[in-house]
Amino acid sequence: MTGTRPEFFDENSEPISARIAMGLHKIGLAMKQQAWQQANEAGLSATQGQILAALVANGPLSGKELSERLGVTLPTISDSVRVLVEKALVTRSADPRHPRASLLAPTPKGASLGARARSWPEFMADAVADLAPDEQRAFFAGIVKMIRMLQEQGLIPINGMCVTCKHFRPRVRPGPSPHHCAFVDAPLSSDQLRLDCPEHELAAETARRELWEQFMRRG
Ligand code: SF4
Repeated sequence: MTGTRPEFFDENSEPISARIAMGLHKIGLAMKQQAWQQANEAGLSATQGQILAALVANGPLSGKELSERLGVTLPTISDSVRVLVEKALVTRSADPRHPRASLLAPTPKGASLGARARSWPEFMADAVADLAPDEQRAFFAGIVKMIRMLQEQGLIPINGMCVTCKHFRPRVRPGPSPHHCAFVDAPLSSDQLRLDCPEHELAAETARRELWEQFMRRG
């Protein structure tokens, strides 16, 4: 084949940023469909499954904490929790930290469904495992940056990520593990950054900006 129209795709291609966004949209649709289908098989809504998974991963939480972690409105959380309590999958008890709030915890049956719900994104992990190690590293670095940007725009809840955590110390040493977690007092590499750490504590806004600038600085 001689290729008589060498400029065709230069003139007729969307920018790569637009094609990445389209790719993410397609992946997002697949994840939504899977979560819905698997929740449905367990007799839950996708939000109910996410709530049980979050309670299994993080321990008892208040409705407000669930709303912040999952990025779902408080009324939606309240509706889902009411159903989970009716199904005896979640119990409410007084929250010792806030006298007028309740703490939600899974029952044994709820915990078992929550543990299953936590594995729902596994089909994605299988697809990602097929990428070469370098591709996985580049993908992960891109994802961390995108999530950080979307968090600052208020589109993804700000929690769980090292780069917004008050225990995170970016680029404190040379070598393959340049960062440090002051919570466990251990070095970590850029590949080991957490996206959903239960020990995460949100740094103040100015500190978050400084952490990010330091993290992005090339060593
Ligand atoms: S506590 Fe968790 S989120 Fe914070 S720096 Fe350590 S590993 Fe990262």
